[in-house]
Amino acid sequence: MPELPEVETTRRGLVPVLAGRSVARVEVLHPRMLRRQPDPVDFVPRLSGQVVGELRRRGKFLLIEVGEGLTWVFHLGMSGRMSITTREAPRHPHTRVVVRTDAGREVRMVDPRTFGFTSVLTADELAESSIARLGPDALTALPSARELASGAAGRRVATKTLLLDQRYLAGLGNIYADEVLFAAAVAGDRPAGSLSLAEVGAIRTAIGRVLADGLEHGGTSLDDLAYLLPDGRAGRHLEYLSVYGREGKPCRRCGAPIVKARINGRSSHRCPACQA
Ligand SMILES: [Zn+2]
Repeated sequence: MPELPEVETTRRGLVPVLAGRSVARVEVLHPRMLRRQPDPVDFVPRLSGQVVGELRRRGKFLLIEVGEGLTWVFHLGMSGRMSITTREAPRHPHTRVVVRTDAGREVRMVDPRTFGFTSVLTADELAESSIARLGPDALTALPSARELASGAAGRRVATKTLLLDQRYLAGLGNIYADEVLFAAAVAGDRPAGSLSLAEVGAIRTAIGRVLADGLEHGGTSLDDLAYLLPDGRAGRHLEYLSVYGREGKPCRRCGAPIVKARINGRSSHRCPACQA
């Protein structure tokens, strides 16, 4: 369940391998990965032979310019990762999409649960997609506390649910939302509209710190090792988590046992004392 940080590490891994190369071969090994392609038969021909251009990230999406007005889109979902390797390297059994460059390197999308997806979109298709409706980026365009508070004003939705709403703020996922709320000492099931400006400010500060820490540690590889860095190393952030996955263990701040509950269907972790 790693979220935004693996995108950044993937970017660092992908750029030197893909930039300026042309796409020599595209293999789709699982059709579900193309479910966001308006017409899945377009995917392979749109990508084949293209020279790979600039790479950007918006929230949890990776966007790569390919050819005239086309954008190659990735989303790693809950369990996806990119693997960068040579064509001779053995394939992981959950390899779903393989793109080989003219230099013989392969970018492989590995995704056991196939919650991730990829597509190649025209400018019009991109403008119609959920990417066009993303809110400001949590890492690079974090709004002021006042702006965040005005987006939360009057909302009865749980604060955690709002933080996960990519139209409100793009980039936070389940692990980092729990960590942010702990760092801000706010209970995730509080109605978003009930937060004071000071509490929103604490959440904003926590977002910056939690994402920076996650990035520094290369993201959060859980015990299933579904998420790995593109070169196969595990992200080290798991050991630094304060609440996520720590139910029953003592709070690092006060010692009270961390509790796990569901908020709108998402597993959520908090300290009942620090986040009362
Ligand atoms: Zn505590």
